[in-house]
Amino acid sequence: SAAIKIGIVGYGNLGRGVVSAIGQNPDMELVGVFTRREPASFGSEGGLTFLHVSDLEGYKDRIDVLILCGGSATDLPEQGPFFSKSFNTVDSFDTHAKIPEYFEQVNDSALTAGKVAVISTGWDPGLFSINRLMAESILSEGTDYTFWGKGVSQGHSDAIRRVQGVKGGVQYTVPVNEVIDQIRQGQTPELSTRQKHLRQCFVVAQEGADQEQIRQEIVSMPNYFSDYDTTVTFISEEELRRDHSQMPHGGFVIRSGVTGTNTRQIIEYSLKLESNPEFTASVLVAYARAAYRLNKEGASGAKTVFDIAPGYLSPKSAAQLRKELL
Ligand code: NDP
Repeated sequence: SAAIKIGIVGYGNLGRGVVSAIGQNPDMELVGVFTRREPASFGSEGGLTFLHVSDLEGYKDRIDVLILCGGSATDLPEQGPFFSKSFNTVDSFDTHAKIPEYFEQVNDSALTAGKVAVISTGWDPGLFSINRLMAESILSEGTDYTFWGKGVSQGHSDAIRRVQGVKGGVQYTVPVNEVIDQIRQGQTPELSTRQKHLRQCFVVAQEGADQEQIRQEIVSMPNYFSDYDTTVTFISEEELRRDHSQMPHGGFVIRSGVTGTNTRQIIEYSLKLESNPEFTASVLVAYARAAYRLNKEGASGAKTVFDIAPGYLSPKSAAQLRKELL
C-alpha cells in the first residue's frame, strides 16, 4: 500500500502511545513493535506483531521510519546513533544539556546512511522549543518564561519511592499561578526556582513507618526538593491506584516584550495534557511523516524541530493547506 510504514523501537509508555497514534492516522501503517525483551512474552497483546530489535536487520527495505521510544537516560544515546545508520528515525531525546552532543552523533550516522533523523521532538523539547524560538525572534526585546505542570515528574516520583519507609508515591510539579498572572498582566519579574513551581508529593507509607521522618527526608532532599516549597500528603494504596495512575502534564511558554517606544506585547502557548506519553507519541508520529517526506526529497542528516517546515507535518497537500488553514 501507499501508507508510510512505521516500526516502533521500545514498548513502554511512549511505545504504547505511538501504537494508538498510528491508529488515528490513515496514511500510516504499523509494521511491528521491536523490543529488547523476549517478544513472545507479549503474546498477541493488542493484536500487535512483536519482534526482537535484532530482527530489524531484515527490515531495512520494509520500514520507512523507525520511531525510537526508549528512555533518554541510557537507551537513546545508544539506539539513536545505531538505528540512524540504517533507517529514517524520530526520537524524543529530552536531556536538554546533552542535545548538542547527541545531535552530532546521530548526524554522523544519518549523513553517512543518507537517512533523516529527527531528534528531540515531543513537547519539551519540541513544541515548546518552537514557541520559544518564535517568541524570541519576533519580540527581540523581552523576557521569556517556561512553566511546567501540573504534571507528574517521573524522576522525582522515583526519588520519593527510594526514601526509607515509603511503599509508593507520586510527585506533581505545579506552576505558581500568582506569578503566571503577574506575567500575563505585563510584569517581568526575576524569579527564583522556588517562586516558579511547587512540588506536591502523595505518599503511601509502610505500616508502622514514621510519617514525620519521611516528610522531613523528602522536603530536605538536595537537588530534588530542597530548593522548592514541597508538600507531602499521606494516602492509602487504594487512593494511589484510584487517583494517581494517570500521567498528566503540560505547561506554558510565555514571552513578554515591548515594541515601539513602550508597547507591551505578550505571546503565550500552553498545553494541558491528560496523558503526557500519548501526547508526546502523537507529536512523534507527525514528525515521522516529515522525516519520510524530507528523505524522499533527498534530505539527510539529523534535524530538530527548528529545521523542519510545519507543512511537512500535515498529511494534507501544500495547496490544500493554503486554502484551508492559511
Ligand atoms: P518507559 O520507561 O516506559 O520506557 C522506556 C523503555 O524501557 C521502553 O522503550 C522499553 O524498551 C523499556 N521498558 C518499558 N517498560 C518496561 C518494563 N516493564 N520492563 C522492562 N523494560 C521496560 O519510558 P517512557 O515511554 O515513559 O518515556 C520514554 C522517554 O520519552 C523518556 O525517557 C523521556 O526522555 C521521553 N519523553 C520526552 C518528552 C518530550 O516532550 N520530548 C515527553 C515525555 C517523554 P524495550 O521494549 O526495548 O525493553
